[in-house]
Amino acid sequence: MEPKLAELLRRLQNGDVNRRDFIRTAGLLGFSIGAAEILAACSPIKPPKTTSGIQYQYEGYKTVPTSPHYFITPESTSAPTAEAKLYLWYCSVCGEKFSSALAIQNHVLETHTWILPEVRQVDEPTYYQFLTDKVKKFDERNTIFSRIAWDEDYQQRVGKVMPFVTQTDPSFLEGNALVAGAIYVDQTAGSFHPYYPGYFGHIRDNGGLYSWDDEINPEKYPIGDPVEMSNRIKKVARFYGADLVGIAKIDPRWVYENFFEPITGNAGPFGMKYKYAIVMGIEMTADMIDLSPGAEASAATAKAYSHMAEISSSLAKYIRMLGYPAVPSGNDTIQSIPLAIDAGLGELGRIGLMLSPEFGPRQRLCKVLTNLPLVPDKPIDFGIQKYCETCHSCAQACPVAAIKKGERTTEQTSISNRPGILRWPVDVEKCYMFWQENGGIDCANCVAACPWAMQPRRNIFK
Ligand code: SF4
Ligand code: SF4
Repeated sequence: MEPKLAELLRRLQNGDVNRRDFIRTAGLLGFSIGAAEILAACSPIKPPKTTSGIQYQYEGYKTVPTSPHYFITPESTSAPTAEAKLYLWYCSVCGEKFSSALAIQNHVLETHTWILPEVRQVDEPTYYQFLTDKVKKFDERNTIFSRIAWDEDYQQRVGKVMPFVTQTDPSFLEGNALVAGAIYVDQTAGSFHPYYPGYFGHIRDNGGLYSWDDEINPEKYPIGDPVEMSNRIKKVARFYGADLVGIAKIDPRWVYENFFEPITGNAGPFGMKYKYAIVMGIEMTADMIDLSPGAEASAATAKAYSHMAEISSSLAKYIRMLGYPAVPSGNDTIQSIPLAIDAGLGELGRIGLMLSPEFGPRQRLCKVLTNLPLVPDKPIDFGIQKYCETCHSCAQACPVAAIKKGERTTEQTSISNRPGILRWPVDVEKCYMFWQENGGIDCANCVAACPWAMQPRRNIFK
């Protein structure tokens, strides 16, 4: 066995590294995540050290997924030959030689390390096979973020686990400041409601970036070919900052049955008058997400929320200036995950989130609803339905076992799961409760642990 891997395996067996770090490091050493998972599964299992006092749950499991990525670490030449002095580094993949670590690092990252899996366009989203005839529209009142505003039983349960956190603790203060800066744009400009905390989206009659009340230009831009317009819209969305973009025809099943605004208490039915959604993915910074459940990961999430508000409002403004109706939307109005899958951005995973080929679950989603003449994209299949059946990394990494292991089920964990879908339901009551136990800081352990979210780092030689 390669000596570095043997040493890493010894550290795993001693409990000095956890499985997640083992797999990550093995990947950086050039071993496929699949092979590393097999080795990890063969080793004695010890719970990783944790400072939060919460027991991580590592049950024995066997998983043999195929690695989606290849990580290749170049080797230095051994003997001080004349050539080695000139070419200290050679690429073990293509043999090209380089005079500095930085040069070969850039070469490896740009040429060899990020190989996307095969992505096929398909006629219907891969989650369709798991829908039963019991699927109904979902009421926004039942999301966990709404329930904390009206569900007294859940409020009491959450209240019991909320820890006392002193505002004078320096690490708390610094983490809080980091998150405050990251959410600042959304919190102050997303809506002008005085109590809008960010993270939500459209609040009726309150203005701000997510406002639906902006005027439409009476001068209409002529649109000859909807295909050309669709391509143009995607370019513009990327120009404004979207990392992923696709177009979906709005499926009425994914429009909330009723809207509910936890901040105002307003609720009511929707009259959806838009035909298409331009769905955008905003990448969350990998190095910060990796620090979950610390404030850095929370800040990465918050920063993406600020970008969601900026980018979706800019795109909606662009379309309204072309003379067509368009409204920006964050987490409001339509469930973004099925919408984004319909738009061809990714597939539904065990984690309960959409996985894209580019970032796995490590992006946030926003959209613009419009009647601009567009052509919807086809959904994609890159093997996630099968992959998630054997990979359990997200479930392993969850500190409160909120992600289901084993087989898919139609059982709900609470009213916050939509009924009628055969899947791995996430226990969002437990998840949100952990965020409170964690000092009110949201967690992204499951996102960080997903192999599809891992990317080679620019600092792999450090
Ligand atoms: S975000 Fe929720 S589901 Fe994911 S690991 Fe943390 S507690 Fe578990
Ligand atoms: S969503 Fe979970 S099961 Fe699926 S690939 Fe990611 S970590 Fe593995």
